[in-house]
Amino acid sequence: MRPPQDRLTCAWCKKRLADDAEVFTINVKVKPEYDRLAREQAGQIIGFHLFTLGRDVPAIVAGAASQAKKAGKDLMFPACSMACAKALEATLHHEKGLVDPKIS
Ligand SMILES: [Zn+2]
Repeated sequence: MRPPQDRLTCAWCKKRLADDAEVFTINVKVKPEYDRLAREQAGQIIGFHLFTLGRDVPAIVAGAASQAKKAGKDLMFPACSMACAKALEATLHHEKGLVDPKIS
């Protein structure tokens, strides 16, 4: 799924993502406590609270029929660069409720 970039900011450094810029996403699976969110907000951009960072970051909830969902992923966090993607991925490993973060 191609995120609507002009509505997104980098989940790590908060920079606005240009519509024509290359965007990295960190895709994660959610644990059962977030199953309801993953179902009810499918296909939407939400503010997802990361306890590790103590703030909300933008996340795209995978649509029911999306490629991400088929690959077993529920949430996608956008990042503006590989450096931001790696920093965020490392953080997400410590976030309870989320599993298996992978940069794509
Ligand atoms: Zn960034």
